[in-house]
Amino acid sequence: MKDDWRKYLGLRAPRYTSYPSALHFDAQVTDEDYASRLGEVSLYEPLSLYFHIPFCKRLCWYCGCNMRVENDYARAVRYVDALRREVDLVGKKLNGAGRPRSIHFGGGTPNFLKVDEIGRILEAVELSLGLTDSTRLAIELDPRLIRDNDIARLVALGFNRISLGVQDFDPEVQAAINRVQSFDLVEAAVGEMRRYGVDDLSFDLLYGLPKQTVASFAATLAKTIALSPDRVAIFGYAHLPAQLPRQRLIDDALLPPEALRADLSILGDEMLVAAGYVRVGFDHYAKPDNPLARAAIEGRLRRNFQGFTDDPAETTIGFGASSISFVGEIYAQNAKTLADYYSRIDQRRLATERGLLLSPRERVVAATIRDLLCRGRADIRPLLRALAPTEANRICANLDRFEEDGVICWEGDSVALAPGARTLARAVAMALDPYEAAIGRKAAPRLAHAV
Ligand code: SF4
Repeated sequence: MKDDWRKYLGLRAPRYTSYPSALHFDAQVTDEDYASRLGEVSLYEPLSLYFHIPFCKRLCWYCGCNMRVENDYARAVRYVDALRREVDLVGKKLNGAGRPRSIHFGGGTPNFLKVDEIGRILEAVELSLGLTDSTRLAIELDPRLIRDNDIARLVALGFNRISLGVQDFDPEVQAAINRVQSFDLVEAAVGEMRRYGVDDLSFDLLYGLPKQTVASFAATLAKTIALSPDRVAIFGYAHLPAQLPRQRLIDDALLPPEALRADLSILGDEMLVAAGYVRVGFDHYAKPDNPLARAAIEGRLRRNFQGFTDDPAETTIGFGASSISFVGEIYAQNAKTLADYYSRIDQRRLATERGLLLSPRERVVAATIRDLLCRGRADIRPLLRALAPTEANRICANLDRFEEDGVICWEGDSVALAPGARTLARAVAMALDPYEAAIGRKAAPRLAHAV
């Protein structure tokens, strides 16, 4: 990476898993709006389903997720009962329309639930929405909570995509973030998954954690490469203690300075590419024969709330507290607290608390940013036409700066990321985003930036 580019790695750019981000949602979108959009879904429309499981056994101090530490398993069973009722409610609104193409369990910690409970959720989906052998099932697992026979039973249920939260293998880094899990534990989990035929295994790593050094992160990357996951995602840790009080448990003095953060990001990219992984978007890597890599190479890559995906479904239906749906140009987010979520479901209402109806102009911005992030290039004519002249001029000035630094180049009316500049895609996307502050000064940290 060119030295001139390192300054962009420090920008607190949104992750753009949705556009606009959830920070722009408000209470104008109601459960009735959501219900009416569900009623307009067409018969064969592919659906991407997401189940949020908000429970964890222990708190990781870096955590930016909607979760709670829970010791009473009966509460998780109650939550599963509510999820089943929510699936039933959504099924009634869909009235036979839509075909689930993929189901993703995220959290929190999905494997806080025993496999029996996960099976009960899938049973509800099968009854109300329909399941086929081709529906892809994915789940995020905490290696510390994998029980005997869990992997065999999850595979028997149809899960073939598993993501392991690894973050960092260094014991000192793990102690500094309160997430201690040995390499042997992860190695055993990987061995079991391979034994049962899981052929789409992903690791999540984090850079920018306390006590990380170039040497320690290189060792983490080397161990990752030795375990040979099919995909790796490397996220930057966003330290936002003012918005996320739990992050105050991390000692600020132990965090790597900006220059070292940039070094760690560059190191991750270089080591994975040297090991044969293909860059997918700006923070994912996949083996060349993995479906995600093929989607990137063939221009089919998409971005949804889970990050980069080869799932072609435009319509996402989220279940559980805080989950977000995108149906017919509206975002609908469920109530965030368990009490509010249960209260709505107990009234046999959809659990929508807030959301956003995309304006025509936001649709154009969303499509431009999606193209840039997923394909590395975007035609910006529709964007400039959709904006007021002052905004359009500001965006052109932002792009001029990136062009001067060689981060982008022009291909007709399309802006394209220069070779090697993929990891800066979020910074360039921010330059195209009328909601963001002018590039060149640091945008105010936001909750949405938390990883
Ligand atoms: S990082 Fe994941 S496992 Fe850790 S507390 Fe947050 S949601 Fe739970």
